[in-house]
Amino acid sequence: MDHQRRAKIVCTIGPASCTSQQLDQLMDAGMDVARLNFSHGTHEDHRLAIEAIRAVSERRRKAIAILGDLCGPKIRLGKLGTPSRVIPVGAVVELFSGTQTDDERLPVRYATLETDVKPGDHIHIDDARVRLRVENVQDKSVFCVVEEAGQIRDNVGVHLPSGELQISALTEKDKQDLMFCLSNGVDYIAVSFVRSPDDVRFVRDICEAWGAVLPIVSKIETPQAIERLEEIVRVSDAVMVARGDLGVEFPPEHVPVLQRKVIAEAARFRRPVIVATEMLQSMVKSSRPTRAEASDVAHAIFDGADATMLSQESASGDHPALAVSMMARIVHTAENSPYYARRSIAPAQSPVAFGDAMAKVAVQAAHDVGAKVIAVFTQSGDSARLVSMERPSMPIVAFSPSEGIRRRLGLNWGITARVMLAVRDTDEMVEQVQRRLLSEGFVQPGDRIVVVFGAPVSVKGRTNSIRVHTVGP
Ligand code: ATP
Ligand code: MG
Ligand code: MG
Repeated sequence: MDHQRRAKIVCTIGPASCTSQQLDQLMDAGMDVARLNFSHGTHEDHRLAIEAIRAVSERRRKAIAILGDLCGPKIRLGKLGTPSRVIPVGAVVELFSGTQTDDERLPVRYATLETDVKPGDHIHIDDARVRLRVENVQDKSVFCVVEEAGQIRDNVGVHLPSGELQISALTEKDKQDLMFCLSNGVDYIAVSFVRSPDDVRFVRDICEAWGAVLPIVSKIETPQAIERLEEIVRVSDAVMVARGDLGVEFPPEHVPVLQRKVIAEAARFRRPVIVATEMLQSMVKSSRPTRAEASDVAHAIFDGADATMLSQESASGDHPALAVSMMARIVHTAENSPYYARRSIAPAQSPVAFGDAMAKVAVQAAHDVGAKVIAVFTQSGDSARLVSMERPSMPIVAFSPSEGIRRRLGLNWGITARVMLAVRDTDEMVEQVQRRLLSEGFVQPGDRIVVVFGAPVSVKGRTNSIRVHTVGP
């Protein structure tokens, strides 16, 4: 099963999934990437989670990528003093700028709350599950009428009306969280509320100044990001359709169309794309998803997503492992249906780069000769990623000497990563590939494989060669 599912699963780690035992179950169920959301939990929580993920992944010899998700300039409720509270339609609630409360008032972690809203404005809470209308502002208090009721919890997101709030793209907290990620060996950095390519470059510069070339995932969730989508995709290593905030900024009917748009743009630039938020939301409480949720996951796969993500379902839900295995089954079933079209999207640049051309030729050859596996020797992971973007029907096994690269490939569609031992020439390389694929049951003697590599193999350099090979006895 593990080798059969092609799209990957990203799990948000939280109180319901951070112990070794829980992580073990998540890996059993199919987790490929662990997401740490810096909107929640302390650095100590995240440090312990990283330790546990690394330990479990080492014991099981399965590379797991860790994605550190920076919260960005998102405004949140403070501490409520109760685990959760229901606020009914028509009720009047009082908001104030603060971090916690002991009474009925709602604290909002935003210093200039009372000056940035005016009567008639709408305030959305928790990805717009709750909607308030501002009635009046008195002194430091903002009085609102509840238009759409719901349950509220500590720390959920609060969306204020004016698009241009007085907050920069990377807050002080983000900078501290980024430092934490860099010094704790996180594999990907996700940037929230990206509005321009400069937001991405800014994070990249900080990483480079630190000496780490970490891949950056841009979360697409603002109207500005949609406007400048091409430029943003170009400077990012991967993108996420962050439907939570996207669905607050845009009306619901736009979300599925924008999802397609982002996936198509990512495909043109050969960037992996994650579809996120509410995918199996009802499994936060229930042991089964709704039909609509099952369809949503399958349609993300039909659209061509590289990965689908679980948020609250795996972070703080009642059935984290069940949600992962359910997602794995939906993905696998969609991929094996006759309706799953392997995409062929022209790359954005013409003439194409060598890597794109190599990937295309390798995949074409693999299909033509009926190869069972495409093996890719990759230093940076790029060649394997490009082969993945061609969506071959057979497994892609990426051999890399770098553990960090093997972990990162956990996010890429269809790729299984393995250690590469040093080889002197192509014959030795093919010999090594064959032995490993046979011992792991990927192939039988007599099967054909395609090997993608750079020649001469003793020299680090660009991938420039493919070899078709029949597996010997
Ligand atoms: P974002 O805008 O970044 O998606 P979010 O608040 O929507 O932020 P998700 O990661 O989508 O968060 O969902 C995770 C849910 O799990 C949150 O609603 C949160 O209440 C809950 N949770 C509690 N503790 C944690 C934790 N330590 N890490 C992650 N999630 C947590
Ligand atoms: Mg969310
Ligand atoms: Mg978000």
